[in-house]
Amino acid sequence: MIVNSNILVDDLLVSEDINDDYSCCVCECLLIETLQCRNGHVACKNCFLKMIDSKKECMTCRCEIKSVESLSKNRYLEKEIKKLKINCPNSFKRDSINKNKSNKRFNQQQQEQQEQQEQQEQQEQQEQQEQQEQQVQEKKLLIKDDNGCKEILTIEQLDSHLKQCEFRFMKCTNLYTNDSCSELDICDFECRVNQYEQHIEECPYGIVGCKLCGKDCSRVDIESHINNNCPKLLIRCKVCNKDDQLIARCDLDQHLLTDCQLVEIDCIFKECNGGGCNERIKRNQLINHLSNNNHLQPIKNKFDQQNDLINNLKLELSLCKDLNEQLTTRLNKLFDNNSNTIYRGKWIISNWNDKLKQYPPKKYLSLDFNLSQNKPFSIRVYPNGSSVMWHNCTISLVKLYQVESIIKFTFEIENEDHSKNDEQTKIDTFKGLNDSWSLQFFKVCEQTGNGFVINDTLTINFSIKIKKCFENFFVTE
Ligand SMILES: [Zn+2]
Ligand SMILES: [Zn+2]
Ligand SMILES: [Zn+2]
Ligand SMILES: [Zn+2]
Ligand SMILES: [Zn+2]
Ligand SMILES: [Zn+2]
Ligand SMILES: [Zn+2]
Repeated sequence: MIVNSNILVDDLLVSEDINDDYSCCVCECLLIETLQCRNGHVACKNCFLKMIDSKKECMTCRCEIKSVESLSKNRYLEKEIKKLKINCPNSFKRDSINKNKSNKRFNQQQQEQQEQQEQQEQQEQQEQQEQQEQQVQEKKLLIKDDNGCKEILTIEQLDSHLKQCEFRFMKCTNLYTNDSCSELDICDFECRVNQYEQHIEECPYGIVGCKLCGKDCSRVDIESHINNNCPKLLIRCKVCNKDDQLIARCDLDQHLLTDCQLVEIDCIFKECNGGGCNERIKRNQLINHLSNNNHLQPIKNKFDQQNDLINNLKLELSLCKDLNEQLTTRLNKLFDNNSNTIYRGKWIISNWNDKLKQYPPKKYLSLDFNLSQNKPFSIRVYPNGSSVMWHNCTISLVKLYQVESIIKFTFEIENEDHSKNDEQTKIDTFKGLNDSWSLQFFKVCEQTGNGFVINDTLTINFSIKIKKCFENFFVTE
């Protein structure tokens, strides 16, 4: 039974003192899969298979064996062997496992080598023997690891234990690539499952956020990111070189351009038509430079230059004004041609006091009309308000067509004293079908004696103007 490519179950046995009957008489491996000839001679399945391939007879009694199916199992022996105590394969140091070549399999290899040897020269034989001696020294390389699994189990329990053993080895699969090369590298670090979490915290290929700028970076690159690229690292300006004035890397250019006192700049009168001052001065020396040097001629030149500029701008401005005027005139003409007339109407509601009783909050009287064939509207009057909360007499305009429109509308409730007419206007976008906007008027409790109900009648004047339809046509009636 092979636990992995370098360990046999035999290597895991706790006691070296194993009943001889538990080992294959040919290869000396534990008889994990035991077969026997009809005379009861046992060997491992592998060895029987080899015999069947060559001589087709039992290696002990030479009785004929036609196939592996003709052999019987020895379940009793198998059961006894599976009770043997073994170490968990994860109890050993990893490099000792990698170097380990199972004893028993060495024996097999040696046998094969011996067979070859017979046909080979003596010199080669010597080499082989040396090799063998070396290999004998390499036997028993498995070294117990203090950090390994301490469990002692039976061979029977091995499979299920391995599935959940916290000490098995695993490899980190973190991937890495950097800006300069597109190839992916894989971490491949190997550790025990219970150490993996700790590795992840230190894995060089793990992703960490830069504490300064927040950029995600592989742990291995973070230092170089901060030192060479991080825009938020505070650094010293190389020109003014002040310890107490640290600047974020990304602000350095701006600092040099506008703030750095020691950077050399052109005199502000450098570029003037007819000659300017061509000196380069440190920024903090500029005022000195200006007061100590006669800049009259450059200033005059600069002044003339600015004047020219202003005159040119004035000219441009007046051209723009002309153009603007022309466009405004044209636009107005365009609007006049498409003049969207205002729709006006009057709604006289009599027996108002009955209406107040018949229409509790949220109930309304409605008046439907068309501004054109495609433009049906409805006006709704809520005598006791459009919600239970607000008892204000409310008037809504409802758009009964689909096209989105900007609409300006006015409702005016007439008063005995016409100077006290309550007029409210709203302009808003009415979106889809049945979209509506409301205006609120007086409170219900104010309805008597407010002058709006004249002879038990309420008179509402309304005007509606569609300012814009989002379908490229205007109302023209
Ligand atoms: Zn065998
Ligand atoms: Zn036999
Ligand atoms: Zn284990
Ligand atoms: Zn890793
Ligand atoms: Zn950063
Ligand atoms: Zn500076
Ligand atoms: Zn100057």
